[in-house]
Amino acid sequence: MAIWNRLWGTKHNNNKANIVGNEGVGTSNTSLRYAFVDTEIGGKNHQVRDIGALRSDGAIFHQASKAELLNFLRDVDFICGHNIVHHDAKYLFTHDEQQQWHLVDTLYLSPLLFPERPYHKLVKDDKLIVEELNNPVNDCEKTKDLLHDEIAHWKALPSHKRLVFASLLWGQREFEGFLRMVNAEPKQAHVSQLIVEHYGEKICSNAPLADIIAQYPCELAYALALIDTTDHRSVTPGWVLCTYPKVEYVMKLLRNTPCKQGCRYCKAQLDAIKGLETHFGFSAFRTYEGEPLQQQAVEAAMKGQSLLAIFPTGGGKSLTFQLPALMAGAAVHGLTVVISPLQSLMKDQVDNLAERGITDAVSINGLLDPIERSVAIERVQNGDASLLYISPEMLRSKTIERVLCMRHVVRFVIDEAHCLSSWGQEFRVDYLYIGKFVNWLQKQRLNQQPIAISCFTATAKQKVCKTSAITFVTPSI
Ligand SMILES: [Zn+2]
Repeated sequence: MAIWNRLWGTKHNNNKANIVGNEGVGTSNTSLRYAFVDTEIGGKNHQVRDIGALRSDGAIFHQASKAELLNFLRDVDFICGHNIVHHDAKYLFTHDEQQQWHLVDTLYLSPLLFPERPYHKLVKDDKLIVEELNNPVNDCEKTKDLLHDEIAHWKALPSHKRLVFASLLWGQREFEGFLRMVNAEPKQAHVSQLIVEHYGEKICSNAPLADIIAQYPCELAYALALIDTTDHRSVTPGWVLCTYPKVEYVMKLLRNTPCKQGCRYCKAQLDAIKGLETHFGFSAFRTYEGEPLQQQAVEAAMKGQSLLAIFPTGGGKSLTFQLPALMAGAAVHGLTVVISPLQSLMKDQVDNLAERGITDAVSINGLLDPIERSVAIERVQNGDASLLYISPEMLRSKTIERVLCMRHVVRFVIDEAHCLSSWGQEFRVDYLYIGKFVNWLQKQRLNQQPIAISCFTATAKQKVCKTSAITFVTPSI
């Protein structure tokens, strides 16, 4: 019983005692009636194979009968579970039966309350980490521990953050049960003002905040949680990006769209020269025969434009895509994918960046042995990489497909872009797959915002340039 007492503060025997505390959960801590439920689904017809439940009075349920479960939950007000809203409840209860309880889902809260690396120790992706043999009662125990920590973190948040989250999330099925359980503050009419007041330094002050609040409240909550992290390698979990694809769009509006007016945030964080100094220690871009090719290409990328840059050899091409990639890594925790046909070149670039102390670049290509490859994949997955160098044929790998799906991909850079078209002698058939892949990735995200593409080459015929609706950065002829 000790854990229950700690969770709800019915005893005061240690520092964790009043996790919910005097602010209470409901009208009286001791009067709260709740249970944790976990279900095992299997078979071709998605039958319920096994059910585990733990009730706040300590009773345990472990059998496969839905009717018995309903009886077990008869006097309960809150049903808690990991992914209960869109998984367990669907198999266990009819719509009408669900109405008698508030569902508390630990899954959706976890990235909001533990957005910083290392994430919560009990969660990996969207799953609970359970060491014991598969048993729904064990899963209930883990969910209980997780909810315990989520309540503790909620209570430890500064009050303005609780107000912002509660205002954005009231009325959303995935969050409402939890908000009721912790007696969260009611919706605030001035949530926009609260966000400006407390996040003003971290977001563009000309971002359309009122529209975002109205249209994408959950996405904004996840974006603000990520903005609050101090390690830019912290990332929004892939399952959140798939469930709420507009999180990426909201992040872009708040943090990676330089405003015309030049607000304080944009001047400080989205200025190409400042970025050059921060990431590379240079005070000015290199010019090529008097032309500011580097700066033009960097600024076009920072505005989110797709571009074709014809960079003569020695024109400083690499920095031109590395800098926006590193800046997007810092601003929106995004990933830039650089597709290059030359494996040795990829390695050189990653090594050169590492020599400058920039460890955000990872390369995945056919030269890696299986162990090196899995380490590289892990680094992309867990947010270590802002820049991924990859050979074009790797895009056909299902693993790479899955990994890129889990990250916020901000841009594809196609190096040696003459391989893409029949205009060059070095035409590579794998380059033709890049377009298909980018389209496929965009569809996975249901994102109307196209992923930007930069093409770099040392040579391109005029007729190719003229047929593409993109920004050109070329030396004048
Ligand atoms: Zn701005």
